[in-house]
Amino acid sequence: MTAKKLETVLVSAGRDKKYTHGSVNAVIQRASSLIFDSVQQKKQATARRASGELFYGRRGTLTHFSLQEAMVELEGGAGCALYPCGAAAVTNAILSFVSAGDHILVTGSAYELTQDFCRHILGKMNIVTSWFDPLIGASISDLIQENTRVVMLESPGSITMEVQDIPAIVRAIRAKNSDIIIMLDNSWAAGVLLKALDLGVDISIQSGTKYIIGHSDAMIGTAVANARCWDQLREQSYLMGQMVDADTAYMASRGLRTLGIRLKHHGENGQRVACWLAKRPEVLRVNHPALPSCKGYKCFVRDFSGASGLFSFVLKQRLSVRQLANYLDHFQYFRIAYSWGGFESLILANQPEELEAIRPVGNVDFTGTLVRLHIGLENTDDLISDLAAGFVRIMQTC
Ligand SMILES: *Cc1c(COP(=O)(O)O)cnc(C)c1O
Repeated sequence: MTAKKLETVLVSAGRDKKYTHGSVNAVIQRASSLIFDSVQQKKQATARRASGELFYGRRGTLTHFSLQEAMVELEGGAGCALYPCGAAAVTNAILSFVSAGDHILVTGSAYELTQDFCRHILGKMNIVTSWFDPLIGASISDLIQENTRVVMLESPGSITMEVQDIPAIVRAIRAKNSDIIIMLDNSWAAGVLLKALDLGVDISIQSGTKYIIGHSDAMIGTAVANARCWDQLREQSYLMGQMVDADTAYMASRGLRTLGIRLKHHGENGQRVACWLAKRPEVLRVNHPALPSCKGYKCFVRDFSGASGLFSFVLKQRLSVRQLANYLDHFQYFRIAYSWGGFESLILANQPEELEAIRPVGNVDFTGTLVRLHIGLENTDDLISDLAAGFVRIMQTC
């Protein structure tokens, strides 16, 4: 038999009878205490507590085991740790592998919270962070120090969408020091469009809040680790009390069932809107990984199997305070909100100096306003007329 295809994995993974008890979906097993029938059973559960045996709520219940098994089948690897949100997944994954006096390398395009965690939490533990240009490629080896323990990637980068040359980065790091743990914030690709572990990454981290949950109504974080990292990630995250409630774990499993078709639709809609924007006279550049104007486009074509619905574009013009308010406040479908990955379209804008402040290696090479879009599942004709009306509002305001 040939290997299961992605869409089939998304529908079937984690639905073994031991999790579903005869229903289609895994049961929601809400529990702190799990009752043992005997002293002997308690002893056995304790011995096997790290390998899917019911032990105590913090180690997970059937609902969690089902999701964890599905994530491992989806992303590859030896195990999946669950967290209450993506931020917790990023920070606890890093904390699980560093000690005082260590050095870590983090892409300068990382999510803002990831950066602030390194500065404010790792900093006070005497762990030093160096930032690198997301497009650094193999030259990352020049930045590796004797005490470098972790390299944190994120591709495409937050807001500015630079696609990293992950295979080149991984090769260069391994050649210098094979003990370094390479992590990737893989939220944009939802663990589906980029097979991080196949490219040699040790830990693939997701804000499952985004596409896995997919409906903007719950938060969860996941980290899938390969065999050499799994025991340490699991036990250290456990010691930091990391878990998520059963209801949210259920919602994540439920999200997986439609993730394939949702992502495909987000991707197609997103590319259609991006191509329309690329032809507009107001637009300097579209940072959509599937368009040649995006930094790292060639790596995208080589390494990703498709695009999701999040990208940004840069206006030729810097919008005034009034223009920005008039532009953003009156969209019919694009709502102003943080996060993304739900079924709905969202919009945010950044002035170049706001981006400079979260780009420690400084590659903000434009002077116009940057707009970030999440393209939802609406009809793109409606989204495009909404965006067209936005350009008219800019023109009519000074
Ligand atoms: C949203 C996001 C996070 C944080 O996830 P939460 O679930 O909101 O805590 C981390 N990384 C990236 C790339 C994100 O977009």
